[in-house]
Amino acid sequence: MDSKIWDLVVVGGGPAGLSALLYGSRLGAKTLLLERLAPGGAITLSSEIENYPGVCQVKDGLSFMECWQEQATRFGGKIEIGEVTKIEPIWEVKDNLELNSKTTPKAETISTKTIPVRNKKKFNHSISDIRNEKVPKGFRLFAGEKEYLARVVIVATGSSHRKAGFKGEEEFTGKGVSYCAVCDGFFYKGKEVGVIGGGDTALEEALYLSKIARKVFLIHRRDKFRAAPATQKRVFNTPNIQILFNSVVKRVEGKLFVERLVIERDGKEITLPLPGVFVFVGMVPNSQLVKGLVELNQFGEIKVNLKMETSMPGIYAVGDVRENSQKQVVIAAGDGATAAINGVKFIESNQ
Ligand SMILES: Cc1cc2nc3c(=O)[nH]c(=O)nc-3n(C[C@H](O)[C@H](O)[C@H](O)COP(=O)(O)OP(=O)(O)OC[C@H]3O[C@@H](n4cnc5c(N)ncnc54)[C@H](O)[C@@H]3O)c2cc1C
Repeated sequence: MDSKIWDLVVVGGGPAGLSALLYGSRLGAKTLLLERLAPGGAITLSSEIENYPGVCQVKDGLSFMECWQEQATRFGGKIEIGEVTKIEPIWEVKDNLELNSKTTPKAETISTKTIPVRNKKKFNHSISDIRNEKVPKGFRLFAGEKEYLARVVIVATGSSHRKAGFKGEEEFTGKGVSYCAVCDGFFYKGKEVGVIGGGDTALEEALYLSKIARKVFLIHRRDKFRAAPATQKRVFNTPNIQILFNSVVKRVEGKLFVERLVIERDGKEITLPLPGVFVFVGMVPNSQLVKGLVELNQFGEIKVNLKMETSMPGIYAVGDVRENSQKQVVIAAGDGATAAINGVKFIESNQ
């Protein structure tokens, strides 16, 4: 068990989590960020980011995130690698948990002090009253063999790629089916590839791949794209992108690796002989960790109010994992700052 009591523990090291670490530590809170892979998050898979205000130069996602970690740890915040698998509220505490306390009370023996009940009228959003009336004294987090104690938890776990659901998708993942153009595009230099999807990410990645592959088939099940008009214009003006609207991918086929893609269009099956297909059909929130602990909406996103508070006092949710996020770096960064500021206020008001 980590002997410290952290003021804030942030789960996830994407833009939302790193921003929370920066703001929390700069406010003087003892802040730890736990990341299962390497800090940076989903944007590191992007070939270019051009819409982060104040950064005029168009950069790839990895370069863009380079200085975030350095800046986020400048004020004493710590980053550890570890996948958080469980979060437990602590209801009983012996010692008063103070901000920046160096003492280490045993969580199980933490005794009660008056437990403030949140003023429901001030909780101005749709979180229903499934919350425990009590405010937990803190939280215990489990990551591998390690355990951590936190007064406040900020969940910044982002989202994962949604599967398109065609036959062979699982079987051929990593063998011709990919979810990352930056990672795998190089393997298709001079070849033909398929891109599935109609949103911003699908079109941006199709543009990226059009510079590597000989030809890109952009396959979308509807008759128009959802992507930003500027991106659509670039796609329409790229000669080696062929758009296939009203087309549904049925299956991929091959021996060891993908050799062809079968789509259905106007009731007919069409076979495209391709060695690679890239899937960009949306994201699913990584909220499994807090399922049953905080309230989720029907899409599995964590419900929050404008302070980024969840239905469990002391747990905040930020970035792509929370309800109604526009799933952009700038939004995630703003959320992280909001949660850290409110998390520190929460600790102060519950001391
Ligand atoms: C290909 C692509 C292109 C994009 N292009 C743009 C763009 O041009 N502009 C833009 O603004 N946005 C873009 N986005 C969206 C942007 O990347 C996201 O909105 C942003 O990264 C969300 O940040 P986040 O911190 O909420 O989540 P993420 O960036 O997803 O970070 C979550 C982090 O949490 C970690 N994690 C998850 N579960 C656990 C756990 N249990 N324990 C520990 N760690 C955990 C993950 O490993 C991950 O590092 C793009 C996304 C993709 C995939």
